[in-house]
Amino acid sequence: MSEVGRVNGQRSPSSEPIRADDPIKFDTDVLVLGGGPAGAWAAYGAASRGARVTLVDKGYLGSSGATAPGGNNVLYVEPDQKLRDEAVASRMAQGGYLSEARWIHRILDNVYEQLKLVEQWGYPFPKDEYGNSQRSHLQGPEYMKLMRNVVKKAGVRILDQSPALELLVDSHGVGGARGVSRLEGLPWEIRASAVVIATGGCAFLAGGLGCNVLTGEGLLMAAELGAELSGMEFARHYAPSAGGGTVTRGRTLGWGTFSREDGTVVDRRGDPDALARALLDGPVYAVLDKADTPEKRRILRGAHAIFFLPLDRAGFDPFTQRFPVTLRYEGTVRGVGGIRITGDDCSTTIPGLYAAGDAASRQLVTGASSGGGAFNAAWALSSGGWSGEAAAQYALSLGRKPHERTLQAAGRAGVQSASTGSASIETAAVIKAVQSEVFPLEINYFRSVPVLEQSLRRLNALWPAVNGAPGTSADELLRSREAAAMVQTARWSHTAALARTETRGMHTFAEYPDTDPRQQRRLTTAGVETIRVRPEGLAPASAHPEPHPISWRKAVAA
Ligand SMILES: Cc1cc2nc3c(=O)[nH]c(=O)nc-3n(C[C@H](O)[C@H](O)[C@H](O)COP(=O)(O)OP(=O)(O)OC[C@H]3O[C@@H](n4cnc5c(N)ncnc54)[C@H](O)[C@@H]3O)c2cc1C
Repeated sequence: MSEVGRVNGQRSPSSEPIRADDPIKFDTDVLVLGGGPAGAWAAYGAASRGARVTLVDKGYLGSSGATAPGGNNVLYVEPDQKLRDEAVASRMAQGGYLSEARWIHRILDNVYEQLKLVEQWGYPFPKDEYGNSQRSHLQGPEYMKLMRNVVKKAGVRILDQSPALELLVDSHGVGGARGVSRLEGLPWEIRASAVVIATGGCAFLAGGLGCNVLTGEGLLMAAELGAELSGMEFARHYAPSAGGGTVTRGRTLGWGTFSREDGTVVDRRGDPDALARALLDGPVYAVLDKADTPEKRRILRGAHAIFFLPLDRAGFDPFTQRFPVTLRYEGTVRGVGGIRITGDDCSTTIPGLYAAGDAASRQLVTGASSGGGAFNAAWALSSGGWSGEAAAQYALSLGRKPHERTLQAAGRAGVQSASTGSASIETAAVIKAVQSEVFPLEINYFRSVPVLEQSLRRLNALWPAVNGAPGTSADELLRSREAAAMVQTARWSHTAALARTETRGMHTFAEYPDTDPRQQRRLTTAGVETIRVRPEGLAPASAHPEPHPISWRKAVAA
């Protein structure tokens, strides 16, 4: 393992002070931020509409994000009216009636068509005994490798290892973004007529496989322009994993018997909270003893080889020996919340700004429940394609060219000090502090009003800490912006949770154990310094202007 900031004994460009006087600078029609499935589909969608497209990713398009290292079940239902109506009705109920049947039908139609295209591009779907393709699962590595090739062939310019840190804005709306190239240690500025945010969810560096690049900058960038969020109260998804492992696999662990330190069995039958409750009392272990034949064990190993790797390395036989298990927080990744979509084309309240995948709220299709079982992958594919096509149309219809605009950088916390002479941001300490407000089961899983209120007060007190002086290297800038985005995402999530005084879907409150029919409406969250939550459909957040130096609305008013 190389020393941090050093590669083969040499300091890497990302750890040197960035060379601000020598930026990578160019114009494009559509700029896509993020290269998971949503970003890849957005870039393809925009390019196939004739736009010049650039995609930037914090990691590498093809191996970065929640899908690439694993795999996704996808919502794939044959175009049979009865089957489709049943799928929609079941989701509406599961999602606490916050989703919309029309959106779910759109997704079902779109996924059915687009997966045929994925097969034509060369994806090897398995076949049943009659030779029919089984299109309800996508293996992450194969899918995303294919998508990288598709995007490249479509003529998209790809910048890997180039996280976006802030948006550019003028009185007409969004005008591009700025970030850093970790490969070259240089800042970049890409002016664009339309921007698609597809930076995934926020998993708070909890260590889940593929998720440590997902820290919420997309949400913060959008909110700095005045965009709204939705469904943030449903960021309450925890997934079981082996204690020392990074792979969260509820299905694999479903083959296990769970027990406490003293060997007493944790009875999980019909009780979704049993594991969490047992973990509050002390360590919990699992043994995969329900896989009781060599054949079952072989199938399990074949299906999720990566789950077994750390256990094998540690010398455990997971089928006969107990290994520790934990619940790993997944934030908004398999939660619900994100940037609020305001149109069928995945537009937002900001002209030229679109959102897709986990960066967008999935409430329209998943309601109050996790979309992790098949809906999220379908949403990433669909919202990606729709946003890319719409962004291209918007960009190509715009008379103004990006270079003719007078744009300002909108980023604040984590990229710019609030005042001169501010102390440096203590990034590691801030990240630890925010994690200690979102990970603990006693705060965020078993939610109660006074505990969540106290936690929110501590998070609000952290906010000034991320408005200090950021570092000077690409890595330091990225880290401080990530820290700011995580603090902010936690503040939004806790604030929205406190505004939903009931139990619905993923959100539960000890004081409000029942679902309240009067609260069957979505909540919109907005604001950076001051956070406002309102029921969707009531007065828009713009009725209470954000006291933030550069919001799009302020720019409009100027
Ligand atoms: C363990 C696990 C299992 C899952 N299983 C399923 C399933 O079976 N079915 C299902 O429907 N869903 C599942 N999901 C959810 C699904 O993986 C996600 O919904 C999907 O990956 C979302 O795609 P995305 O493109 O929005 O985000 P991601 O795939 O997470 O990609 C986001 C991309 O944005 C990049 N990025 C982040 N920040 C920046 C920045 N500042 N600048 C530039 N780039 C940035 C990242 O590097 C990454 O490449 C699962 C999730 C997990 C964690």
